[in-house]
Amino acid sequence: MTKGWVVFTDLDGTLLDHHTYDHTPALPALRRLSALGIPVIPVSSKTVEELKHIRQQLNLKGPVIAENGAVIAYPGEATQIAPPGYYLIRDFLIDHRANPAFDTLGFGDMSLEEVMAHTGLTRDEAKRAVKRLASEPFLWQGDAAGLAAFRKEVSAANLRLLQGGRFMHLLADTDKGIAVKHTVKHLRNKGRIVTRTIALGDSDNDRDMLMSVDNPIIIRKHDDTHLSLAERPDAIITDHPGPAGWNEAINQLLDQYGDQHTVTHL
Ligand SMILES: [Mg+2]
Repeated sequence: MTKGWVVFTDLDGTLLDHHTYDHTPALPALRRLSALGIPVIPVSSKTVEELKHIRQQLNLKGPVIAENGAVIAYPGEATQIAPPGYYLIRDFLIDHRANPAFDTLGFGDMSLEEVMAHTGLTRDEAKRAVKRLASEPFLWQGDAAGLAAFRKEVSAANLRLLQGGRFMHLLADTDKGIAVKHTVKHLRNKGRIVTRTIALGDSDNDRDMLMSVDNPIIIRKHDDTHLSLAERPDAIITDHPGPAGWNEAINQLLDQYGDQHTVTHL
């Protein structure tokens, strides 16, 4: 039975191809989930504005979890922002520049053109990417010793630092796993029955999310390596990378546990 299933998914390198951002190899599984009424909830480092745009493109309904878990937006409800919020995150970066070893350049320090140049985003994409509520991507321009000292300051302030592909992210003391647990609790409080939670991710920052669900799915990377999750030997590791792996794993789970009678109606 698939009644009460909820799917949480990372985007880049998971539902979207690492290079082309294409999701079409995952369409058969996405359509199957949609027909069964199973929500697919994006969980990403992207902003709410970026995720709402993607949600529309992928024809998804329901909440989005943005900024690495620091922001949750439920349809028709006020957006939930993990404290301390964007302005205090910015203040932390700016105040610490009093120490020349803490040389950071954040989105908030850049013009839209500079964000576009550093990220490769189009103007419209960059506009959505800078609408931040609870975390700041930044370039570290100092040395390794300075970064080690900066990490201690971040911990002392009860904030977190995440290493992304090119940018580091400074955010509230939260993560994708905490946000997923909050969302499940919220859905249950709203009367939704949740019987099985599934999460798909490819990177180290998906670890907490994968640990927090019933069925973790590790999406293989393009270089054929994959995240190792020693604590969860039950995790599915896909044969294919990106959205093709997404399609493979979701279909496998639906075939294993799914309601065949519902499927034959499609
Ligand atoms: Mg990823």
